[in-house]
Amino acid sequence: MDDQQLLRYSRHILLNEIGIEGQQRLLDARVLIIGLGGLGSPAALYLAASGVGRLTLCDHDTVDFSNLQRQIIHRTASVGQPKVASAQAALRDINPEIECIALPVRADEAQLRDLVAQMLVMLGEDPKRNGLLNTPGRVEKALRFMTHGYQQDADHLLNGALFPMEYDEMVIVKDIDFFSMCEHHLLPFFGKCHVGYIPNKKVVGLSKIPRIVDAFSRRLQVQEHLTVQIAEILMKKLGAHGVGVVMEAQHLCMMMRGVEKQNTIAVTSHMLGDFRTQQQTREEFLKLIGRGRIRE
Ligand SMILES: [Zn+2]
Repeated sequence: MDDQQLLRYSRHILLNEIGIEGQQRLLDARVLIIGLGGLGSPAALYLAASGVGRLTLCDHDTVDFSNLQRQIIHRTASVGQPKVASAQAALRDINPEIECIALPVRADEAQLRDLVAQMLVMLGEDPKRNGLLNTPGRVEKALRFMTHGYQQDADHLLNGALFPMEYDEMVIVKDIDFFSMCEHHLLPFFGKCHVGYIPNKKVVGLSKIPRIVDAFSRRLQVQEHLTVQIAEILMKKLGAHGVGVVMEAQHLCMMMRGVEKQNTIAVTSHMLGDFRTQQQTREEFLKLIGRGRIRE
C-alpha cells in the first residue's frame, strides 16, 4: 500500500466504525490520547493527514508485523521495536508539523512484563522469538483484566442500588456465569452462581447481583471464600431476612494437573438468616435453582 491508499483505507475503516460524527469529534477534541491497537492506528493516521498538530500516543506493545498497525508504521518499523516510536516517525512523514508525545510505560506495567519475559526464559522459552514477542504485554493485560475485581468496591457498587419495597417473597437470580482464578495455582475456575434472598423492606437492582459476583470473582480466590463473601455483603447491605448463595465450578487446577479429574464440579454454598435456620426456606431455594440435593 502506498501512502494515499493507506490514508483512504484508514478513512474507510474509521468511517465504518465511528461515522462522520465520530470523525468530527476526533478532530474537535482538545486532548487526545491514542493507543495504536484496533482503531487507534487509523485514527492517528487520519488525524495526522488532517493537519492535527499534536497527538499523544500510547501503546506499550512492540511491532509484530501482523496487521494495519504494521502498514501504518511500516516504513520505520522493525519487529520488536516499540510501536509508538515507529508510529511517531511514520506520522511525521505524513505531516512534518505534527508533534507526537509518547506516554511512558507505567513502571508497574513494565515490571510485570519483564517478570513474564523472565518466566518464559525459566520455562525454557525464548521470549525474543517471533510468536512470543508481544506475549509479556498480552499476559500483563490479561492478568490485569482477570483480577479487575481488586479495583472494584463491592460495598460501593450497592450504594444507590437499594430500593424500599414491601415485598417479602424470595428473590432469586440464578445461573450467573462467573470466572475466577484460584489463589493456589493462578489457574481459572469458572461456573455458575445462584443467589437468593428474602427482602426486609429493601430490594436491590437485579443487575447489581451479577456485578457483585464479578467484583469478588475477578480476584485470586478460593471458591469457599468467594461464596461467603458474596452472601455476606448482600446480607450486610440489604439487611435481608436471609441470603443463600450456591456456586458450582470447574477448576482447571484439578482438571489439568494433579488428580486430573476432568468432570468434577465443586459445589459450595453459604446460607444466612432464614436460609440457615428455616429448612423449608432453604429447600425452596435449592429447588428453585434446580439443586435439590445440596445439603447445608
Ligand atoms: Zn488451584
